Amino acid sequence: MRPLYMVDTHSQYHKIKHQVDKAVLDVMESTAFINGKAVKDFSDHLAGYLNVKHVIPCANGTDALQIALMALGLQPGDEVITPSFTYIATTEVIALLRLTPVFVEVDPETFCIDPAAIEKAITPRTKAIVPVHLYGQAADMESILKIAEKHQLFVIEDNAQAIGCDFHFSDGSSRKTGTIGHVGCTSFYPSKNLGAFGDGGAMCTNDDLLAEKLRMIANHGQKERYYHEVVGCNSRLDSIQAAILDVKLAHLDAYCQARQAVAAYYDNAFSGTEKIRTPFKEAYSDHVYHQYTIILEGVDRDAFKAGLDKKGVPSMIYYPVPAHKQKMFEQFGVDALELPLTTYLTERVISLPVHTEMDEEQLEFIADAVLSLI
Ligand SMILES: *Cc1c(COP(=O)(O)O)cnc(C)c1O
Repeated sequence: MRPLYMVDTHSQYHKIKHQVDKAVLDVMESTAFINGKAVKDFSDHLAGYLNVKHVIPCANGTDALQIALMALGLQPGDEVITPSFTYIATTEVIALLRLTPVFVEVDPETFCIDPAAIEKAITPRTKAIVPVHLYGQAADMESILKIAEKHQLFVIEDNAQAIGCDFHFSDGSSRKTGTIGHVGCTSFYPSKNLGAFGDGGAMCTNDDLLAEKLRMIANHGQKERYYHEVVGCNSRLDSIQAAILDVKLAHLDAYCQARQAVAAYYDNAFSGTEKIRTPFKEAYSDHVYHQYTIILEGVDRDAFKAGLDKKGVPSMIYYPVPAHKQKMFEQFGVDALELPLTTYLTERVISLPVHTEMDEEQLEFIADAVLSLI
């Protein structure tokens, strides 16, 4: 059997090696390493794929979130509502900008922020909501948009795990995640669904003014060279990464389908046991399975994980500690905050290998290993 990994970027590369190598060599020959044609081409192609007006590339997904928040003109102490059950970057940038993160519950079935919890957390200081499309499935954006409109709040989507995912509105229309709120932020970290060979990120928006601001902030606050209007930062996607991403973008739909096929295999394999809750699928969202995350019921997770390790099956806990329990947020006095559903998930979730290069033999081996341990 081929070796098992959480993500097999090596096999994926080898399938498209000729295209990738040529794209990289072309950039090297051009020596346009920063802001070269490859960056513009990729941004245009991504905007076309997502059907969004503006794609503003930047250095990584964390920067995308930070720059998006910087562009909104918020004041220190303004409150930003976010799930506690997420990767640290989502919440860290809020604190970094001297804004106040307000941690709320997620829906235990979808793992995404609970709109009812958002509504309850709104105060006169609330300025923005940052939903996370966790594991590759969209948060309930229709409900979130309604709340945001009612209370005049900004919506910044953390789309780092769900690029390519479609959200379906009740009127029958669909939009790609990351193009629904005021700004959508994504990451091209190598293990993400659209992964570079290094760091990368992007912001999406349909708002012309906001796009201009995002672009300016990512470029030292300048529109015209050496005339700096606002305090910004230096956050660029480099041309080599853009060229690689442009090659991989053409495969993104196929990559999503390969992940969905893996998920379908697992769903079926685990359908006979109540000890495993397989990912729940909402009608309003597709699922692009950045992670295949199950909930263990009545199973000792540590022993289960150790058993998988012993059999050579990789697994990961995303995430073992909710954001509001992290030491970095002690300053906000949120340690005592009770988020029972979030706690429930952090104690029971475990993610199994899912990537674009898995074969039936590997899937059967993993499924057998899982079933033998519960
Ligand atoms: C990966 C990730 C980020 C950060 O992206 P980087 O490119 O690593 O900075 C932010 N939010 C979520 C949910 C992520 O999974």
